[in-house]
Amino acid sequence: MYENKVVLGLIRVHILHHSDSDEGFYGSWMMDELKRHGYSISPGTIYPILHEMEGDGVIRSEKVVSNGRVRKVYRITPKGREVLRELLGYVRELSDEVL
Ligand SMILES: [Zn+2]
Repeated sequence: MYENKVVLGLIRVHILHHSDSDEGFYGSWMMDELKRHGYSISPGTIYPILHEMEGDGVIRSEKVVSNGRVRKVYRITPKGREVLRELLGYVRELSDEVL
């Protein structure tokens, strides 16, 4: 579907938004959150995106042990915060125009 191309960009904005907090998030939380917003994203889609965003230096992950399991918490980086600020400008601009 063509809209998937656009949605994959919007998801990155959404991920940056939620990583911009002290608590950060787990990958599984982000999947639930996106579902709540009406996107159905599989682990096979979300984890490569998180990995790619980490490689691009806009988010970083930290391993934590919770209930005896090692999990990754994702948080925004200073670079990611700059990128997010710029993207939100575009989002605001576009929504003013189209909505
Ligand atoms: Zn959200």
